[in-house]
Amino acid sequence: MPSLDEKLEPIFDEVCRRNAGEPEFLQAVREVLESLGRVVAKHPEYANHALIERICEPERQIIFRVPWTDDQGQVHINRGFRVQFNSALGPYKGGIRFHPSVNLGIIKFLGFEQIFKNALTGLPIGGGKGGSDFSPRGRSDSEVMRFCQSYMTELSRHIGDKTDVPAGDIGVGGREIGYMFGQYKRLANRYEAGVLTGKGLSFGGSRARTEATGYGNTYFVQSMLATKNDNFDGKRVVVSGSGNVAIYTIEKVESLGGTVVACSDSGGYVLDAKGIDLTLLKKIKESRRERISEYARLRGDHVDYIAGGSIWEVPCDVAMPSATQNELSGKDAKMLIENGVIAVGEGANMPCTPEATRLFKEADVLFGPGKAANAGGVATSALEMQQNASRDSWSFEQTEMRLASIMRNIHDSCAATAEEYGAPGDYVLGANIAGFVRVADAMSFLGVI
Ligand code: GLU
Repeated sequence: MPSLDEKLEPIFDEVCRRNAGEPEFLQAVREVLESLGRVVAKHPEYANHALIERICEPERQIIFRVPWTDDQGQVHINRGFRVQFNSALGPYKGGIRFHPSVNLGIIKFLGFEQIFKNALTGLPIGGGKGGSDFSPRGRSDSEVMRFCQSYMTELSRHIGDKTDVPAGDIGVGGREIGYMFGQYKRLANRYEAGVLTGKGLSFGGSRARTEATGYGNTYFVQSMLATKNDNFDGKRVVVSGSGNVAIYTIEKVESLGGTVVACSDSGGYVLDAKGIDLTLLKKIKESRRERISEYARLRGDHVDYIAGGSIWEVPCDVAMPSATQNELSGKDAKMLIENGVIAVGEGANMPCTPEATRLFKEADVLFGPGKAANAGGVATSALEMQQNASRDSWSFEQTEMRLASIMRNIHDSCAATAEEYGAPGDYVLGANIAGFVRVADAMSFLGVI
């Protein structure tokens, strides 16, 4: 592990003491602090007034009981969370995750990442995240609805279009946002469209929001490739996951001339040398909500389904991890490097372990960290807030054009910041510093709060 600057070491020790038992949160904080050494060396004032300590401590953390009744009449209890991490730049903004692995530490890591990601978009949004350890898998539509209503019954008192604006994440898509918005509207007796984003088009959603995270990551990798006079044309690409982020990454990569040969879910991966058939993938995942093994069964003999295998053993030019945190280990990174990978774009949040990230850097692989590369989703959420505030609805083309230009700006500002701080090509350093500086500057104007 790289050592920390002497001013930052005691800050990290204190964060470790205060957040013991939250490894993902400590991993995310450590990575940012490793980048900030160069900032405090150049501008020592950023270490004043406990500014860095304050960024590492959430403004508010809410934990609540979520009771709900299943189709057999049995009552279940889940735990609900919302971490309102930092509101220096705007209302807290960030998704809600429903997955059995959710706990406070996971939500804090995601909320912490969200602060810097949202800052990088250049839009007026603070950082937050929420979720529950509820597992939607195998639950009926009515069960999911009752769960969403119960979750929102408590959450509704903590959110608002100028306070905190949740959206989706793993396990929370258009259906869940619809149920939550319906319940919020009923409780508040207000049609406050801007209180949630990722809404359906018929009730205040934005065009291109569903596509935005996957498209945005593809644009980011396209910009990185362009710095080497290269592009997606003819590239072999592996995209892990098969949810919303993965599906629209595959769509955009294929439209730019790349071939996506593999994708996955938590059960295994499929290898399709002819290129993933998107229509079939969408049918299986979006309409039928089935497992990826179904894809292999329906697509034909040339497709292999590898149960339980690591998708990163598939040789590729570009890897786009779009499933979940720490899904790509040091061992996986070694395999990818040996097989000649040239670029990695993180579609998920923190999918590469610190060792994998280090190995990619040492091997000079272009590496787009999640907080920059996957910022297109939240950026388009901010565009949805703009449309809601002005009671307007933009065309797909107009919205996608804004998304593309935001992603280009994020890429350029990460690249310029890395250069300015003496580490050209280091997008991890560039993203952490550029995001931090924007938040820290706002915080220092706001006084000690
Ligand atoms: N969950 C997404 C993310 O990780 C989107 C959040 C949002 O749109 O608020 O950035």
